[in-house]
Amino acid sequence: MAKIDPVIIVIEDDPPIRRFLRTSLSTQGFTVFEADTGKQGIIEASIRKPDLVILDLGLPDMDGVDVIKAIRAWSELPIIILSARSGEQQKIDALDAGADDYLTKPFGFGELLARIRVALRHAIKPSEQMQGEVFVTANLKVDLHNRLVSVDEQEIHLTPIQYRLLTVLIKHAGKVLTQQKILKEVWGPSYQENAHYLRIYMSQLRQKLEADPTQPKFLLTESGVGYRLKV
Ligand code: CA
Repeated sequence: MAKIDPVIIVIEDDPPIRRFLRTSLSTQGFTVFEADTGKQGIIEASIRKPDLVILDLGLPDMDGVDVIKAIRAWSELPIIILSARSGEQQKIDALDAGADDYLTKPFGFGELLARIRVALRHAIKPSEQMQGEVFVTANLKVDLHNRLVSVDEQEIHLTPIQYRLLTVLIKHAGKVLTQQKILKEVWGPSYQENAHYLRIYMSQLRQKLEADPTQPKFLLTESGVGYRLKV
């Protein structure tokens, strides 16, 4: 069976960036369709059967966050956002609306490619690192069925909240999760303002699971935004 090139929709109003993305992605074997407005982007996303969307948040006709909401109304396809350095809150809103990842402008093409590969891998096989009910990354192994956590084959005891936090990260492995989203999933909707809980428990998890908690290898901080479980 012939391999079909993955299709990417680029929604970006800045012509030089759009041209750069089209050229570089095409040479990497992607089929690229472009849109310079949010409305056009939503149309392209619905008719081209894309594998992934790259979305600029600053669009002339509508907020990029609303583009995400529109796409999420009918599709779970991966969305990587491009945002200006100043748009921290906008970035958080976009992730909470369902974006999978983000890059801050200016970004390197190598970095974008790496993010695209991770996003596509997860879309095709939602949990590539799940063998049955076992999640593996680096030297960490989590048996979700038997609730067993081990590092280098040594069993680690976690408290119920620590374990819950870990399973939420595993559920969204590879994706950037905002603090609010994690707080909501671990502690419930009324705890969304309690970011310090999350900092404390994340630090405990790193102490227990990371070889060097100050230089985490998989429980990564996304500065100013939240966390990501590296896969
Ligand atoms: Ca723009």
